[in-house]
Amino acid sequence: MKKYNWDNLSKTDMIELMSTDDKLLLQRLYDEAYKVKIKYVGNTVYFRGLVEFSNICTKDCLYCGIRKGNDKVERYCLSKEDILKSAKWAYDNKYASFVLQSGERTDEEFVSFVEDVLYEIKNRYGLGVTLSLGEETRETYRRWRKAGASRYLLRIESSNPEIYKLIHPEDCDFQARLQAIEDLRAEDYQVGTGVMIGLPAQTAEDLVNDILFFKEHDIDMIGMGPYIVHHDTPMASMMKDYDPKHQLELGLKMIALTRLYLKDVNIASTTALQTLDYLGRERGLLAGANICMPVVYESENRKNYLLYDNKPALTETSEENMKAFEKSIHRIGENIGYGVMGNSPHYKKRKEDNNG
Ligand code: SF4
Repeated sequence: MKKYNWDNLSKTDMIELMSTDDKLLLQRLYDEAYKVKIKYVGNTVYFRGLVEFSNICTKDCLYCGIRKGNDKVERYCLSKEDILKSAKWAYDNKYASFVLQSGERTDEEFVSFVEDVLYEIKNRYGLGVTLSLGEETRETYRRWRKAGASRYLLRIESSNPEIYKLIHPEDCDFQARLQAIEDLRAEDYQVGTGVMIGLPAQTAEDLVNDILFFKEHDIDMIGMGPYIVHHDTPMASMMKDYDPKHQLELGLKMIALTRLYLKDVNIASTTALQTLDYLGRERGLLAGANICMPVVYESENRKNYLLYDNKPALTETSEENMKAFEKSIHRIGENIGYGVMGNSPHYKKRKEDNNG
């Protein structure tokens, strides 16, 4: 086996590791990434209680099940009271962090609704809030930051502009997305991004470039997952050779290489991994992830928030979901950071460096 300098992988090394199907080498990769995780972020997993509060979206991304052009989707938006009920449940169960996710809307009614919800969450429960609401103006980011959001996840989806173009309609602009990521940093969010892994036409080098992109843009949190087809989307027809096992393996390699290369960032073990393998969540954590996002809302509408096919645990209660996560995490000998926000160590360091 070739000797790698795991602490300082070159781009060529990473492309080789991204391309390998040597089982021994892959296990070594995951083990090395796990060591780095323990050293930089520890063996505590932090929960972010997730509420997908609306599936109404003004965009038409070619891979997404809730794209505006999918008229088979029953649209919904939870009320402020329902969202606050979930925030209370999260608070009572010692989740110190909460995630609000929805389709993208930029109208004032939506912006002020989110703003109002954020103020209430801050005043009543003091939870750390991550938003995942898409591209907005800098002014909107500022308003939401002031109202209580501290983290924002805006996935670049692919750092290769050609692939970005291939998977989005014409009105989605790569440069605008880059600008939005910069605006989030300027408004003092912990900035999260991520990519889809295993896209059509995407090479091992593209994926490694995605990791270099995370570094170059000084990203604090990573939320990425294997691409899983949604049958009612234009992209479903592009994925002729779709192999779930391969997608899962690519997803784990990306987590491991990102951990090795970026070291002190937060990385989510996403539901997409769990969709491809019932032990996917654990495998993600063992490959270097340290964040989990259990769903904390109970609603008939959960079945209407399907970005891809076969999303698991749609009918579990928040309590059942929490227990399932606890079981997975304890099974691999890790702890849960109840009552602790688990901010990105990278963000903390970035702030210290800027102030010092
Ligand atoms: S990926 Fe986001 S912005 Fe694109 S269609 Fe889906 S919900 Fe809307």
